[in-house]
Amino acid sequence: MTQQKSPSQVSVNTTAILVINCGSSSVKFSLIRPLTGETLLSGLAECLLSSTARITIKQGEEKQSYKLTAPFNHQAALTVLVEHLRQLNLVQYISAIGHRVVHGGEHYSEPRLITEVVEQAIAQLAKLAPLHNPANLIGIKSCQQAFADLPQVAVFDTAFHQSMPEKAYLYGLPYSLYKEHGIRRYGFHGTSHYFVAKQAAKYLNKPLEQCNLISAHLGNGCSVTVIKNGKSVDTSMGMTPGEGVMMGTRCGDIDAGILFHLVDNLGYAINDVDKLVNKESGLLGVSGLSNDCRTLEKAMLEDNHVQATLALTVFCYRIAKSIASYSASLTQLDGLIFTGGIGENSSWVRTEIVKQLGLLNFSLDEDKNQATRFGASANIATKNARAIWVIATNEEWVIAEQSALLLKNLAK
Ligand code: ADP
Repeated sequence: MTQQKSPSQVSVNTTAILVINCGSSSVKFSLIRPLTGETLLSGLAECLLSSTARITIKQGEEKQSYKLTAPFNHQAALTVLVEHLRQLNLVQYISAIGHRVVHGGEHYSEPRLITEVVEQAIAQLAKLAPLHNPANLIGIKSCQQAFADLPQVAVFDTAFHQSMPEKAYLYGLPYSLYKEHGIRRYGFHGTSHYFVAKQAAKYLNKPLEQCNLISAHLGNGCSVTVIKNGKSVDTSMGMTPGEGVMMGTRCGDIDAGILFHLVDNLGYAINDVDKLVNKESGLLGVSGLSNDCRTLEKAMLEDNHVQATLALTVFCYRIAKSIASYSASLTQLDGLIFTGGIGENSSWVRTEIVKQLGLLNFSLDEDKNQATRFGASANIATKNARAIWVIATNEEWVIAEQSALLLKNLAK
């Protein structure tokens, strides 16, 4: 059996981390230098477990796609990736694998070297994240086979929010449900909120520990986080990513009574309800057209599509309300951050949200707003108003950086 490299054999400065984000039928991967964030290679294996499974690998401007062979699974994808890395002579630079793990529960507020105990904990937490943690474990097991000599690190999406106080993470449910079954709010998108907060601290030219921020990650999944003295003190997602603002296909907060009504009076089975609130609601459900913000904006602006307009209007109002609600968590506020595919690119969505936040002294410079898209980062606020940054997120870099740092600390 190949011997796994010990953390002391891993040099942070000269090497790269292979970042793996494993879904049930996909694997996203990036080979990143942890100190600079330079991406040496990235790609996506998709449609896994079906005969259309394929992998696309990108290096600089070059892109190569391959069909996967049976058994069309995560292991098959990683075998192609390893072969590709070998041909490019990149394997020698990989010092560790950093895995995005969605749910770390209350156990993990920091990244962890993956051991049997950590694997068992991730497996146990699958009851809180049934769609995500089992897929993350498949990724971990496949990488253990494909990269037997490399240390593997888990970086948890929930970790950044473990600093939330009790008043923010408890539901108004019997306390025993929290104590005995872990039913509480955990929050997600932690690596993204952390990354953009760190970037904002750089713009503010002060340590993150002195920054007070509200960060809106708006992608297919959306969440808003309030950061006090550099730490997450509340966030809109809860025990699952379903809570909070409206999203691409998730409804976000709704009256729990609606669920009973659907089951008791409208003939829904519990699986149908799950599908409805997670896959058929949000922008898609209200518009009846698409979950894709680009499609909806086009339909609204070019075709006067009434329901697309309504979907985007409800979406923005709910996000503005969520941002405003966090004035309860802060006594000072340095600024608001927009990130994620919608936050980074949709000037229309940003305008619509910010125009409802005048009471918090937010106001947009429309020229800067229009100019800041497609990966650009800037403060788009008017001159004397509170800062509003658009910041392109980079969760992969955080995972690479935190994996490398953990291994460096373990080697001391
Ligand atoms: P995920 O949560 O899957 O990582 P992303 O962060 O990539 O999602 O965000 C996807 C969303 O970003 C989609 O709704 C997409 O329409 C939206 N988006 C991407 N580019 C633009 C754009 N130029 N204008 C408006 N919305 C955009």
